[in-house]
Amino acid sequence: MNGKSANLAIITNNTFEATKAINLHHYDLSSALQTTLKFPELIAIFCSKIANKIPHSAYAYTNKEFDLEVKSGVFTRHSCNYALKVEHQQLGELTLMNNHRFSESDLQLLETMLCCLIYPLRNATLFHQALKLAYTDQLTQANNRASFNDSINREISLATRNIKKLSLIFFDIDHFKAINDTYGHDCGDITLASSAKRIKENLRDSDIFFRYGGEEFVILLSDTDANGAEFLAERIRASIEQHTIAYGMDIIKITASLGVSTLRDNDTRESFVMRADKAMYTAKHNGRNRVVSVN
Ligand code: GH3
Ligand code: MG
Ligand code: MG
Repeated sequence: MNGKSANLAIITNNTFEATKAINLHHYDLSSALQTTLKFPELIAIFCSKIANKIPHSAYAYTNKEFDLEVKSGVFTRHSCNYALKVEHQQLGELTLMNNHRFSESDLQLLETMLCCLIYPLRNATLFHQALKLAYTDQLTQANNRASFNDSINREISLATRNIKKLSLIFFDIDHFKAINDTYGHDCGDITLASSAKRIKENLRDSDIFFRYGGEEFVILLSDTDANGAEFLAERIRASIEQHTIAYGMDIIKITASLGVSTLRDNDTRESFVMRADKAMYTAKHNGRNRVVSVN
């Protein structure tokens, strides 16, 4: 012995068994939380795994960054709420509800279990941030072409399975090259970003908006028939025509040509897209600043 006194922890059989049980439970919870990077699944797994230790009638999870709101169960009077965060990274807010007050020991246990949720939530956040970046056009903040390729397949399957209408608008700025040539490429970029903003202002939450390439944008309209799509295309056209862009001392006005198609029973993805593209070119040939619909 070197004379130094050792720290001694005395563990009774009961505390040992209790700690072992909690560790096993945490291990089981952590393993389950490693199986997915989807926020709703992570929250559902967490809440179901803790349910026998911390009974609750409902849960709600919100995540503003990803515009997410997940709810399940019967909403009752008493609740406890946690804003989840790790290293300055916001991870959303979790609320548990019950018809009687959560006890202090419930809350303490919940807080230790939340430690198992934090890092899976952080991983999901990083994954979704990377996905968002890979699918977003940085100049206009619209979804990009890669995102379009994924979304159109999914939307066609959904529309076919649910026997719903699906429409597509192709949007192309008129004589855009002249803006670049006259005012410079920076002004062209500002014009593109500003046009994207105008388009977005006219859309519903369920409409999906993409930069297809160069000065061409595409809008996928779920549950929208030919009349609805044509109406929206006309509203976008008018909004672009009315808007002016201030660039230094110059005031720039632009117009756009739009083509509309609506999914047919015998359509392939290519034929559906090609009809909207052709309609847009017909709008160009017919004098630009107009909407042409091919159904
Ligand atoms: P039209 O009315 O027939 O559509 O004529 P347009 O001039 O709009 O079409 P054209 O296809 O001849 O020219 C498109 C131009 O868009 C050419 C290209 O340099 C420019 N462009 C493509 N992407 C960008 C971009 O990200 N920024 C800028 N500033 N210009 C771009
Ligand atoms: Mg153009
Ligand atoms: Mg073009």
